[in-house]
Amino acid sequence: MRTQVAIIGAGPAGLLLSHLLAQGGVSSVVIETRSEEYVAARIRAGILEHSSVELLESAGLGARLRAEGDQHRGIYLQWPGERHHLDFVDLTGRSVWVYGQTEVQKDLVVARKADDQEIHYQVSDVALHSLEDRPYVTFTDESGHARRLDADFVAGCDGSFGPSRAAVPAAQTYEKVYPYSWFGILADVAPSTDELIYAWHPDGFALHSMRSATVSRLYLQVPNGTDPQSWSDDRIWEELSTRLGHGQNGWKLTPGPITDKSVLPMRSHVRTPMRHGNLFLAGDAAHIVPPTGAKGLNLAIADVALLSKALVASIADRNDTLADRYSDDAQRRVWRCTHFSWWMTTMLHTSGDPFDAQLQLSQLRWVAGSRAGATGLAENYAGLPIGY
Ligand SMILES: Cc1cc2nc3c(=O)[nH]c(=O)nc-3n(C[C@H](O)[C@H](O)[C@H](O)COP(=O)(O)OP(=O)(O)OC[C@H]3O[C@@H](n4cnc5c(N)ncnc54)[C@H](O)[C@@H]3O)c2cc1C
Repeated sequence: MRTQVAIIGAGPAGLLLSHLLAQGGVSSVVIETRSEEYVAARIRAGILEHSSVELLESAGLGARLRAEGDQHRGIYLQWPGERHHLDFVDLTGRSVWVYGQTEVQKDLVVARKADDQEIHYQVSDVALHSLEDRPYVTFTDESGHARRLDADFVAGCDGSFGPSRAAVPAAQTYEKVYPYSWFGILADVAPSTDELIYAWHPDGFALHSMRSATVSRLYLQVPNGTDPQSWSDDRIWEELSTRLGHGQNGWKLTPGPITDKSVLPMRSHVRTPMRHGNLFLAGDAAHIVPPTGAKGLNLAIADVALLSKALVASIADRNDTLADRYSDDAQRRVWRCTHFSWWMTTMLHTSGDPFDAQLQLSQLRWVAGSRAGATGLAENYAGLPIGY
């Protein structure tokens, strides 16, 4: 098999890259270890930045997002006794959209099918070869046949567990592991809030998020290693009620049937450079952020926006300037989002240290009470322009 770009991974980074390359007249073949259904059903991100929405719309992927997504002007920040609304539109002129990663994935699958994109699901034994010269990828396809895919370039969009990140030999890794995890639930109940609530509480952080008018997504800070099945539904709702301030100024948290429970460990991880020869990394293959800043999916989209332009320029115009700058250009935004995600995480999660708790409360009061503080949070959360 031969194509111009071999894409490893059919998550949002891989499928969006194939879509943008096709729009630029560049062919690609995507290979993915999981089934199409498995990838589409993975419950993950839920917030799209202003620039991500603009990019998806400009790529012809915005129709359902506009019809079924929910535009939010901002978020609530709270701590016991106080809740403050930060209005991003007022502060920065930019908003965010609640639209699940599952929905973005569905839109991408529909668009790629309409374009007859070649995607091989349920492959195994994926290996990358000859990356500094004429690259090729080998794998075993769904029927058990050994395959070889030759390409001008390879795009590693295979997340944090795929083989691409290890194929960059001289990469430097920066990592921080946090001493807590997120216990996330999905519940078939209308959200008890119009916009997300980020709550600091002495018992630990809590977040009230949502997926739609009838489905709520809520998170609790828990110790690492927590078994989600060890918490009863009653205990989860009780803890959420306490930390989110049920009864505070008349606000009520409405419980409902829990349809999914999972625990997500939290870490920051950046690998640099995001290129080795003719291999380029994008999305979680190159960086992981804790989800507090809602940045992972948005960073994957921003990487791919840069990478697609660079590969189209290299292949169609024989101009390598953007490809040579790709890693540096992408890392500028990666580090901004890595810092913002770390800052939100350490401001909102309790460590058990009373000194840290007072510093956190002081910072929250400043962010909520000062236009300068609120604007800094808003600018980062609603997202800087692609190419920042
Ligand atoms: C619980 C949770 C909540 C999150 N919340 C948010 C949020 O609110 N906001 C936000 O912006 N981000 C959030 N994220 C992060 C976001 O989901 C990821 O950053 C995003 O999925 C990255 O997309 P990607 O395409 O780079 O990687 P992935 O989605 O991981 O896709 C990589 C693909 O590569 C495939 N693959 C792996 N190995 C191979 C191989 N050997 N060969 C071929 N294919 C392979 C995988 O199966 C996968 O389909 C969250 C993540 C989790 C887990």
